Amino acid sequence: MGINIDDFSINLLQRLIGFNTTNPPGKERECILFLEGIFKSEGFKTQIIGKNDERLNLYVCYEGKSEAPPLLMYGHVDVVTTEGENWKHGPFTGKISDGCIWGRGTLDMKGAVAMMCSALIKMKREGKKPSGDIILMIVCDEENGGIQGAKYVCDEYAGLFKDVKYAIGEIGGFTMYFGERKVYPIMIGEKQKCDVKMTFKGEGGHGSMPVRGGAMGQLGYVLNTMDKKYLPCHIIPEVKLMLSELSAVLPSPYKIIFKSLMNPITCNKTLKLLKGKGRFFEPLLHNTITPTIVRGGKKINVIPQEITLEFDGRILPGYGSDNLKKEIKTLLGKEVNMEITNFVKGPNKLNMGLYKFLGDILKEKDNEGAPIPYFASGVTDARHFSKLGIQTYGFTPMYFEKGVDYSKLIHSANERIPIKALKFGTDAIYKLLTGYSSSRILKS
Ligand SMILES: [Zn+2]
Repeated sequence: MGINIDDFSINLLQRLIGFNTTNPPGKERECILFLEGIFKSEGFKTQIIGKNDERLNLYVCYEGKSEAPPLLMYGHVDVVTTEGENWKHGPFTGKISDGCIWGRGTLDMKGAVAMMCSALIKMKREGKKPSGDIILMIVCDEENGGIQGAKYVCDEYAGLFKDVKYAIGEIGGFTMYFGERKVYPIMIGEKQKCDVKMTFKGEGGHGSMPVRGGAMGQLGYVLNTMDKKYLPCHIIPEVKLMLSELSAVLPSPYKIIFKSLMNPITCNKTLKLLKGKGRFFEPLLHNTITPTIVRGGKKINVIPQEITLEFDGRILPGYGSDNLKKEIKTLLGKEVNMEITNFVKGPNKLNMGLYKFLGDILKEKDNEGAPIPYFASGVTDARHFSKLGIQTYGFTPMYFEKGVDYSKLIHSANERIPIKALKFGTDAIYKLLTGYSSSRILKS
């Protein structure tokens, strides 16, 4: 029996939006069991995984002909809060209006989950056997570190992903406009999270009698220095690829800017000149630490003897926490009391084997758009799957018309996906699943 894939994915997304999976607390259970029911009734092999009854994950497998390695698709069904936001249509209604489906998660990332499910079900209903097993993993808890979701699944059920080399996940495949030029970023890598805490100690005493060089003064020195200076610039292969390919398709002012960004000698100067416009590029070219929490001082007339300062730190692939500590010390020009409070190793070795195939699918869908490798300054569940040697590509294709910047609606009010974008993505993923074969994987 065939399937009207478009109606199916629209209905499915509306149903998914109806489950309030705001994380915390998540409570993805009902949503995951609903999806399991669909896959079971379609005759797929499924398994429910979770260390907590309210926080479940769903594994689905469509067995292939063993002519290619298994291919993984994964997505999360938890969403971020809508508290304090003003929505035009209820965030959990899935209402259709102005050619869009509205609701929390339509872009991040229940929309993509609906695409993946619909494409897989269509393929099976048509009786098309994939070249290699297709594994669909729908997880919980992405928005809060993946502890109950991807991390748990990868730590405890690694065997389910035996021989998987390639996966598709979030961030990528959607239309971005540079003037009139259309590009389609495909995420190929991401940074590693590395949080840092500094402690400043100094003389205390009565507020009426100032101290010099105390904890406050040291804090001020560190914050001020970091606000003015950059850590050293590093041109990693992922970013080099991204900027070179962007240079090739964009007009000349961009070419000049990217060229000087890719030169360690001129990189920081260029960022200074670009001011706010360089904000997007700075984290791609540096390890970064952003101060976010200060603790110290309890009473207005007491000079604190101790202050702590915490940083959201992010490290480029190929570098570790020791590199970051050294760079901070050099930047400050002196020793400070610092410790690494949290380091989650991310993907390290880039494997471009499936990239060309994904790019070809996007070019087939929109021949005016150029696929571009994209490196993300944030983190996704890709870091958990990378521990199993799996290369993730951000591939949740969506066609966006020029005008509305949909990326700005992620995690904010009035999040919505154009129906046209949902159809575009479902068909692109269907093309991936049905066209996937060993000959599509290039040595990289
Ligand atoms: Zn997401």
